[in-house]
Amino acid sequence: MDTVTKEQRSKNMSAIRSHDTKPEIYLRKLLFARGYRYSLNSPNITGHPDIYLKKYNTAIFVHGCFWHRHEGCKYAYTPKSRVEFWQNKFNSNIKRDHVVKEELDCKGIKNLIVWECAIKQSQKKGNSPDKLISMVIEFMDSGSKYKEISAEELLRED
Ligand SMILES: [Zn+2]
Repeated sequence: MDTVTKEQRSKNMSAIRSHDTKPEIYLRKLLFARGYRYSLNSPNITGHPDIYLKKYNTAIFVHGCFWHRHEGCKYAYTPKSRVEFWQNKFNSNIKRDHVVKEELDCKGIKNLIVWECAIKQSQKKGNSPDKLISMVIEFMDSGSKYKEISAEELLRED
């Protein structure tokens, strides 16, 4: 038996497929509204980041917690059926993410991973996207080369 019910799983799957709720679009809109300009899925940048800010030499990837195996995240559950299928899928995603990270590092491009749970957290009713966006901007302006933003990170008290 799956730890997640069939109903829940199909709900999760449709959320993953759904276009209008895409978390990367949410983040793009936040940046655009603050005057940041970027290119999308840049073919010339390793990993084709969801958002690439040339001026800030920054590639931003919005990662689905399930597909990219966000460690310790409630969205990164493991389906109990077709285990081998999922494991292979997850392994190749993790491997690809690792290669992309190394290559960006080699090329000196700043790399920001925004986990989907962080987007969901800031989209919650009554929450403001301000903390998320200021963390993104802070990273772009900093000397750091790599950062991940998760829901947990957003909830942390400064
Ligand atoms: Zn997550």
